[in-house]
Amino acid sequence: MIQRLCVYCGSSPGKRTEYTEGAKQLANSLVEQGIGLVYGGGNVGIMGLLADAVMTQGGHTIGVIPTALLEKELAHQGLTELRVVNSMHERKALMAELADAFIALPGGLGTLDELFEILTWAQLGLHQKPCGLLNIHQYYDKLISFLDHMVSEEYVKGLHRSMLLVETEPQKLLERFRSQG
Ligand code: AMP
Repeated sequence: MIQRLCVYCGSSPGKRTEYTEGAKQLANSLVEQGIGLVYGGGNVGIMGLLADAVMTQGGHTIGVIPTALLEKELAHQGLTELRVVNSMHERKALMAELADAFIALPGGLGTLDELFEILTWAQLGLHQKPCGLLNIHQYYDKLISFLDHMVSEEYVKGLHRSMLLVETEPQKLLERFRSQG
């Protein structure tokens, strides 16, 4: 049962409206299913859009932001809860602890760092929570091909590759999470 979902996503909105539309669709699915959002706490980019879309529909949001980013990422003042932590590492640890599952939306280096850290923790058996990639508008196609290349070159086990569920629709990804759990 997923009560809170951690979403990793860009501090930029990205180039295409499809990305922001995808984030809004995810927000709709979360609110419909009564799932709370855990995210980086900023009011910029896809992050801010996603949190706004959840909040305006009466959903539940927890932002986790390090003091150093309070200004840069404009800590969102309209969340259900804002947790201010001392470092990036504390942020990732608290987000992981608060959530029952993890999704990456389109994003940049920070998004990839967060996604791959949580996947490597799964690989090491440090948690058994589902992890997924929302491949909106084929943004992650090349990353997905590269992951398959890593398996065929025997640097990643097929079992570990399969821990990352990939879908283009938020509803489908959440359904797959439920059928896993
Ligand atoms: P980006 O995908 O680069 O736009 O960043 C998305 C989010 O990831 C932002 O909130 C960044 O502050 C965050 N981020 C970037 N690097 C790290 C890191 N090493 N640990 C935790 N969060 C990070």
